[in-house]
Amino acid sequence: MLENKKGDNFSEWYSEIIKKAELADLRYNVQGFLVHRWWSTFIMKKMFEMYKKEFERTGHKEVMFPLLIPKSNFVKEADHAEGFGAQVFWVTEAGTRHKKLEEPLGIRPTSETAMYTMYSYWIRSWRDLPFKRYQEANVYRYEPTTRPFLRGREFFFLEAHNVFETKEEAEAQILEDMEMSKNVLYKELGMPFLGFKRPQWDKFAGSVYTCAADTLSPDGRALQQPSSHFYGQNFSKAFGIKFKDEKKKDKYGWQTTYGPAPWRFMASIISIHGDNKGLILPFSLAPYQIVIIPIFFKGKEKGVLKECKKVAKLLKKYRVHIDDRPEYTAGSKYHDWEIKGVPVRIEIGPQDIKKKQAVVVRRDTSKKHAIKQKDLLKHIKKLEKEILDTLRTRAEKNLKQNIRSANTYSELKNKIRKGGFIKVNFCSIDLNGEKCAEKIKEELQAEVRGERIDKREKIKPGSKCVICGKKASHVVYIAKQY
Ligand SMILES: [Zn+2]
Repeated sequence: MLENKKGDNFSEWYSEIIKKAELADLRYNVQGFLVHRWWSTFIMKKMFEMYKKEFERTGHKEVMFPLLIPKSNFVKEADHAEGFGAQVFWVTEAGTRHKKLEEPLGIRPTSETAMYTMYSYWIRSWRDLPFKRYQEANVYRYEPTTRPFLRGREFFFLEAHNVFETKEEAEAQILEDMEMSKNVLYKELGMPFLGFKRPQWDKFAGSVYTCAADTLSPDGRALQQPSSHFYGQNFSKAFGIKFKDEKKKDKYGWQTTYGPAPWRFMASIISIHGDNKGLILPFSLAPYQIVIIPIFFKGKEKGVLKECKKVAKLLKKYRVHIDDRPEYTAGSKYHDWEIKGVPVRIEIGPQDIKKKQAVVVRRDTSKKHAIKQKDLLKHIKKLEKEILDTLRTRAEKNLKQNIRSANTYSELKNKIRKGGFIKVNFCSIDLNGEKCAEKIKEELQAEVRGERIDKREKIKPGSKCVICGKKASHVVYIAKQY
């Protein structure tokens, strides 16, 4: 068991898992830059792989762009430059004599202004479109406060930057992005989320509008996961991304971006699936999917170990590890692998050898079963699916229980205290509604997350805004956030 309980002091529990599951070492001496140990690196690489498959499936091609962006590129789109201005690290000198560079170079906080300079050379004709590219990138943002896997000055993500002939095609991409989020987060990782169109005051700097997926943390806060941005022609006009249409007329491209961050998925994996014993990983992510623990009895060590190796061979299609450390008790080994979230543990002792069986323990339910060796492979295969299903069902139940409605301000005030998403009628998600959102922020320390885009929610005629009492135009969700 961990020292902290997930339900009592979530924040300390989260930090304890990061340390004890050896996900990151926080002793490195640059704030907001995380040292990732092999366990978390492996998990994240798996998530990157899942996403790359989705990008390939949807016709995106991979590219690699430089880390540094000249200041002259950076300032081309005014809203973007203003929105990111405070977050950019600048390289201004180099070498032993600290020679001043001719032009300051920004370390990418995101890559629009690096990529679109080149897009303007590459895109010439309607035949080049749709133009769908993505890259795996570390990005750097000078954040005032940092927290492992939640907010960092360096974080790891994928960014897709697409150009289309028409507005309609570009907007259809936003929906395809949401489908990719569903395929990876929900189907493969068992993490349910709500899809939102963000209000105008909360859009990405330089975009026309932003959509995003929010997961729910156990402490009742929303956590933004992948987001998509519809740029309209804002960047194509600033960077000269033009093409000749079929009638040879010059047109500006319509653009979108999509940014899933496996680095941030880690935060949701830890907090949504983890429990008081530690991390819980689905098979797809686990660095070791099965750990075999030999139950040693004096004089029988060799025979037990031999049997463990035999079973490991039987299960060789999985990532199997035999924990044969002689100086540790079986109990302390159980504990270690539970903290690290290994989905299945197998125990083998002299009695099991006699019965030609192994004891199989599930990490998600702690259920224990003695399984005949000849049935072992089939059994594990079944568990692979069952464990993911259990994690997803659990998370989904929790999310559903934490979506509530409020009809009045005092109801909203009461319900938001318990956390979760509160559904209310709201006057406007364009800038006219900002005043009402500010009141929610100031008095309730919560945010308007937006209207659902993954589900149609019509407003009832005659509905009034829960804050100002004016005619409501949208059903929105309100939550505290990270
Ligand atoms: Zn209002």
